[in-house]
Amino acid sequence: MMTVDLYQNVIFDTINMGIFVVDRDEKVLMWNGWLAKHARIPSQAALGKRLEEAFTAAPSPAFMAALRNTLNYGLPAVLSNALHRAPLALFNVDDIGEDQLPIHQSITITALNTNEGHRCALIQVTDSSTSIKREKMLRSHSEVLKKDATTDILTGLYNRRFFDEHYKMAIGQAIRQKLPMTIFMVDIDYFKQYNDYYGHPAGDKVLCSVAQTLKTQLARSSDMLARYGGEEFIMVLPNMHAENAMQFAEKLIHAISALNLAHLKSKVAKHVTVSIGLSTYDPSRHREVTALIDAADTALYKAKQQGRNRASYLALDTLISHRVGAVID
Ligand code: GH3
Ligand code: MG
Ligand code: MG
Repeated sequence: MMTVDLYQNVIFDTINMGIFVVDRDEKVLMWNGWLAKHARIPSQAALGKRLEEAFTAAPSPAFMAALRNTLNYGLPAVLSNALHRAPLALFNVDDIGEDQLPIHQSITITALNTNEGHRCALIQVTDSSTSIKREKMLRSHSEVLKKDATTDILTGLYNRRFFDEHYKMAIGQAIRQKLPMTIFMVDIDYFKQYNDYYGHPAGDKVLCSVAQTLKTQLARSSDMLARYGGEEFIMVLPNMHAENAMQFAEKLIHAISALNLAHLKSKVAKHVTVSIGLSTYDPSRHREVTALIDAADTALYKAKQQGRNRASYLALDTLISHRVGAVID
């Protein structure tokens, strides 16, 4: 039967962390199996050595300062991995050769007072690489999840949910900066007929091409484009005045036409086209902004009625006065 002492020795050498003890003269008194493995110094070679010579490279100055505080004043110390990556020369077992990477370490130093009244220091080292790796993995998972929640899977554009959030923010900014903002509703013409004739997978490809083309038209990082619904996209362009907005919409229409995607069932052209409804909110002119999306939507309806493959602008105050009129009537 093993005695408690023997158990302690076995545990000391099998435990999955580094444990060593140094005396007042900074000489190594104990050195466990984990250290022998990761410092690559067997305990016979380390015992009795001054700590600075025990490892293959001297411990970091921060470690030595903390150790001396413990030895001189009995103060415990913690060297967190965030600040001190690798204070001790410790390596992974499978990394052999020139480019061996040090283990990321978390270290605690505790004062040990022996019966003889000598003070020693107990140093415990754990490998924090695995917890760092786990943390990194969790972080990248949550980023992927976050991206999925804001991205439209088919086109890679922002989805409606992200748009709703962004839109509120963009309006707040326009008000604060006292700058106009224009929104564009872009809708593919006769897309039902396209799907019916060419099939749904071909329709999906058209959606992706249109999405990418619209995206290339955006110049500023504050501009945003989202898939608003099935074959409908929405663009928000801060600092775009009504005077320039129509011209920009024409540019979008041309860019989509220039893709020259055959659409034999369209009644307006031989290729895929879009219609656009747009409206501008100008904080210096409009008191109300809530009807902006409705205004762009109404403008889109007008563009469709007027024959499609075109853009239509509706002034925000027109819609607001219509609304007021409707209420009074
Ligand atoms: P209009 O010119 O008036 O806009 O006519 P339209 O046919 O484009 O409009 P409608 O609203 O009647 O039909 C929209 C079509 O868009 C119907 C639907 O099958 C298609 N659609 C919506 N989402 C998707 C999608 O994710 N993939 C594909 N392939 N088609 C879609
Ligand atoms: Mg539509
Ligand atoms: Mg359509």
